Amino acid sequence: MSILPLHMQPLNHLQHARVYHRLPFPSRVYCSTTTTKPRHDDVGRLTIESPPVTLNTDRSSATSRSLLNDPSLQSTWSHRAWVASGCTTVSYSLAKSLAASVDSHIWLEPLLAGLAGYVLADLGSGVYHWGIDNYGDAGTPIFGSQIEAFQGHHKWPWTITKRQFANNLHALARVITFTVLPIDLLCNDAVIHGFVCMFSGCIMCSQQFHAWAHGTKSKLPQVVLSLQDAGILISRAQHSAHHRPPYDNNYCIVSGVWNEILDNSKFFEVLEMMLFFRLGVRPRSWSDPDSEWIEESEASLTTMQ
Ligand SMILES: [Zn+2]
Ligand SMILES: [Zn+2]
Repeated sequence: MSILPLHMQPLNHLQHARVYHRLPFPSRVYCSTTTTKPRHDDVGRLTIESPPVTLNTDRSSATSRSLLNDPSLQSTWSHRAWVASGCTTVSYSLAKSLAASVDSHIWLEPLLAGLAGYVLADLGSGVYHWGIDNYGDAGTPIFGSQIEAFQGHHKWPWTITKRQFANNLHALARVITFTVLPIDLLCNDAVIHGFVCMFSGCIMCSQQFHAWAHGTKSKLPQVVLSLQDAGILISRAQHSAHHRPPYDNNYCIVSGVWNEILDNSKFFEVLEMMLFFRLGVRPRSWSDPDSEWIEESEASLTTMQ
């Protein structure tokens, strides 16, 4: 997230905070500055409520214009080329699946493989999102820029809606190009390509699904709203829970079908414990509350400019 300085401080009015005891495992005690103490079973439903913000319309629209002109949110020809190559490799995989199905007269298995690819892409997006939200930093080899972008996304989540299409997708499109191209060249199996084209296509587009989950209902296309409401794409309501305390759930961003399963089974908490006890690394979600997790509003950016 290069559009904003990473040293910006959290707003003082965002006072809902988590307090952790320094134990070798995540023991969570929640405090609130409000006079109403939340019951234990209300913890997961805590929300940050910003005080009423008096928006200066002119300054707000000026901020939107400056964001739209921010080079870090705009697509370059390099971004577009990587998205084009990713789309080409995925489309070629789909074409090979269809061609092999016609040759072999097998249709059910490739279709089921495609369905499996779609379902597992959601799981894959959740595991990847959990990993880069919680581990590493901008200096981490290979994943550094993605880690910086996803961790910065928690501070300025609304900027994803200002990001241009190829700018948002190019990093995943590059990964898809390098992984799917060899399969395209070496494999002619209808079932394998049925799986590969759906899995890789959903992974590549997951950042667009994510951006739509941050979209304003009145501004999203009706077909997107219908797919979100049907649970085919990650819904706005489900993903908004990921941006509220305790910031450790609802990581999946394709369809969200795995979110409840993973969160109820404490899948990621078990993984975090295993990594901690084996490698001694702590996920960011165990850390003391800090400014990196707390969202700053677009209005706060306006006041800082
Ligand atoms: Zn996240
Ligand atoms: Zn988000």
